[in-house]
Amino acid sequence: MFGGCPVSRSTSDTFGSRDPTEDFVLPFARYDDILSATHNFSEAYKIGHGGFGKVYLGVLGGHEVAIKRLSKDSLQGTKEFRNEVTLIAELQHRNLVRLLGFSVRGDERVLIYEYLPNKSLDVTLFDDSRKMVLDWPTRLNIVKGVARGLLYLHQDSRLTIIHRDLKAANVLLDTNMRPKITDFGMARIFSDSQIKANTQRVVGTYGYMAPEYAMEGIFSTKSDVYSFGVLLLELITGRRRSSVNHIMDFPNLIVHVSICLFSKAWNMWKQGRPKDLIDPSIIDTCLVDEVLLCSHVALLCVQDNPDDRPVMSSVVYALDNGSTMLSTPSCPSCPAYYAHRSNKMEHLSCETQNSINSDTITIIEGR
Ligand code: ATP
Repeated sequence: MFGGCPVSRSTSDTFGSRDPTEDFVLPFARYDDILSATHNFSEAYKIGHGGFGKVYLGVLGGHEVAIKRLSKDSLQGTKEFRNEVTLIAELQHRNLVRLLGFSVRGDERVLIYEYLPNKSLDVTLFDDSRKMVLDWPTRLNIVKGVARGLLYLHQDSRLTIIHRDLKAANVLLDTNMRPKITDFGMARIFSDSQIKANTQRVVGTYGYMAPEYAMEGIFSTKSDVYSFGVLLLELITGRRRSSVNHIMDFPNLIVHVSICLFSKAWNMWKQGRPKDLIDPSIIDTCLVDEVLLCSHVALLCVQDNPDDRPVMSSVVYALDNGSTMLSTPSCPSCPAYYAHRSNKMEHLSCETQNSINSDTITIIEGR
């Protein structure tokens, strides 16, 4: 898989005690080759830094690859890690970033992914000088691709994977601006017990997190659907929705800010004025019906009650076939909306959003 580079399916360097009859489906690279590909994890080769560790650009077998060096605080043993990675490597879909291989030495864990030169969606979508590169047809393709990738994770693959951290930074773009979801196996590699035991572990991002997950730690495929709805609103508006900073102890405030933003989207959708919602930099490229459809789907996805949110197969169907069969989303400002949590939020008002800047923050703990 790595061409001429010395990658094998079995090295004593990595798995000295493994059963020689075991058949690995995923190549693993010698750790020394990872070190030379990244020049000993040199900062000059670093292309990103996420909650699970740093990402480096390297060349293996003549191909550029993204090398993710996982934080050492994963306590997972080598065997468990190998099993998880092998399972995740079996997940193959055009809208998932391809996991090409892995490497282990001691407590070092490395994952090797295909390299996507257009980086993550947030880099372009939230850059005022570049966001018009993502015109409406391109954004619609991104929405549909992410929806298909998520459907595969939830339903169509051999495993059921709940992503738990779907956001623009976890959607990478290939050379043709087609989307690929990344970080989709991390929840398995860092299993629940380890995450609970480790307060430094990043497990989600405020603004994208469903209220039941942010406030009560309850997650399901429907919490991913919520995150998808937020992402969809971001693609329509070209603006970050996860817009709260320095209030990490107040998840209910984040939920409240979201309600205000969703209310605005809901009003525009209800009044059939999607042009008031769409990113002004691409307004000339969009079709009103498509924007209305996407707004409708997004509003269904971000409903408070997980049971009211559609499953991803319905989302994919609606995006491909139109909205005639879709239900009406509940109004975010209706009393019933978030009612069971309202006692926690009664002191807040929609003006709150004006005092909050537009940076993203990442939540720690919470599973
Ligand atoms: P978190 O892990 O907290 O959710 P994140 O998704 O930004 O944050 P990573 O997945 O570790 O963290 O990625 C960090 C950055 O590295 C990405 O935003 C992206 O710019 C870059 N990156 C990651 N994987 C690749 C890849 N396969 N190809 C190109 N760039 C990548």
